[in-house]
Amino acid sequence: MRVRLAPSPTGTLHIGTARTALFNWLFAKHEQGKFLIRIEDTDKERSKPEYTDNILDGLNWLGLNWDEEPIIQSNQIEQHRTAIKTLLHKGYAYRCFTTEAELDAMREEQKNSGQAPRYDNRHRNLNLEQQEAFKAEGRTAVIRFRIDDSAEITWRDMVRGQMSWKGSDLGGDMVIARRAPANEIGAPLYNLAVVVDDTAMDITHVIRGEDHIANTAKQILLYQALGLSIPNFAHTPLILNAEGRKLSKRDGVTSLSDFRAMGYTAEALANYMTLLGWSVPEGMEERFTIKKAGEMFSFDRVNKAGAKFDWDKLNWLNAQVLHEVPINLLLESIIPLWTEQGWNLPNQLWGKELVELIRPSLILLNDGIDQAKPFFEQPKLEQDGLKQLKIEGAIKALKTLLDLLENKPWDGVDTKQAKSLLSIAADSAGVKKGLIMKSLRAALLGKMQGPDLITTWSLLARIGQDRSRIRACL
Ligand code: GLU
Repeated sequence: MRVRLAPSPTGTLHIGTARTALFNWLFAKHEQGKFLIRIEDTDKERSKPEYTDNILDGLNWLGLNWDEEPIIQSNQIEQHRTAIKTLLHKGYAYRCFTTEAELDAMREEQKNSGQAPRYDNRHRNLNLEQQEAFKAEGRTAVIRFRIDDSAEITWRDMVRGQMSWKGSDLGGDMVIARRAPANEIGAPLYNLAVVVDDTAMDITHVIRGEDHIANTAKQILLYQALGLSIPNFAHTPLILNAEGRKLSKRDGVTSLSDFRAMGYTAEALANYMTLLGWSVPEGMEERFTIKKAGEMFSFDRVNKAGAKFDWDKLNWLNAQVLHEVPINLLLESIIPLWTEQGWNLPNQLWGKELVELIRPSLILLNDGIDQAKPFFEQPKLEQDGLKQLKIEGAIKALKTLLDLLENKPWDGVDTKQAKSLLSIAADSAGVKKGLIMKSLRAALLGKMQGPDLITTWSLLARIGQDRSRIRACL
């Protein structure tokens, strides 16, 4: 069992491609097969090495490890050309001399008479004389593969069941090599290249998005003409936006690196992308690792219908991952975000405690910036904090507490001592303990919402920030 992902490096790793990669990987894991990569870089103008790097990097980050060295499609061109020669030789393909202007005129005519645009196969049966005449005119030619209108293409799709396409719905004879001088073979095109490469790579199952269904029909005809064995096919549902349309650049983030930059974890994204189209078997939780999903995966549970992208679910999964991940790993992933802000940890233990403190409110990893900010920078006093400090007795309570601390600064470790200091301060200022606690929160964080007070105080006390913040409020 050998499957492959065949990305074109004409852009960064798209979430749809990542999901296709994931389904290939899951299937390979389940079947103990191999997951391979082929970089389809034959579009020289749009392909860039940095996109290849971005794609491989993204797959790696998601944990979708591949077997064998990635194949680079442009290195295979000679094999593609050989296949084209075979097709020409056997009469399955021919040179089409129709000029771009003639093709435009043909399409225009089709449009005006209400027909679907297609090549009308006008050069399919040119005799030698006609061909020579076109050559003598100096015309260039593309190479087309014959698609008989009467052809009936059928396959059993692993997701969609029995499929059937009519040759007449494939747009006429298909171009398999780009325009070139009439005695040459121009650059081989996608459908031809894929068939040759999938064969060379011994691919047994082609798993890709449903936008490739018509290509599959064309490719099956090529397999047959070349006398090659036809792999199995699975067409996975598209990812849709909230309006039910194919998720596209217009929907904002679609590139895996954007999700990553927003603070989604690889684990949550991989988990979520699996759910985009695959329903978990009965009894299995929706929160899982891809390793676990690989054990359970089958195409029987992949839906035919498009999968709507659900941000709430992704966020929920991301929060679950962040809440469960070992604290050291979480700290390790957050430190670079803090460093970018110019924030340095006084020590590892302090960082660990801070992460432990803020983690329940993290949905995205990047929330760790806002949540940690008051521990690295003096916060500004917000409306609710100000209101708290205006309550009668608040300032007096804080002053009393500060006096106590000036005599005997709290070391930030013994929490019993912190609680007793609060009680003593409340008693001697003649206020309720609740008032002093709320006011201390306002003084330390500038606002009334926030994590556990004693831990917050403890962290600030250990970096010598508690008394200065209280003092600033008086
Ligand atoms: N390069 C094609 C794409 O990125 C590959 C499709 C396929 O898997 O055959 O859409």
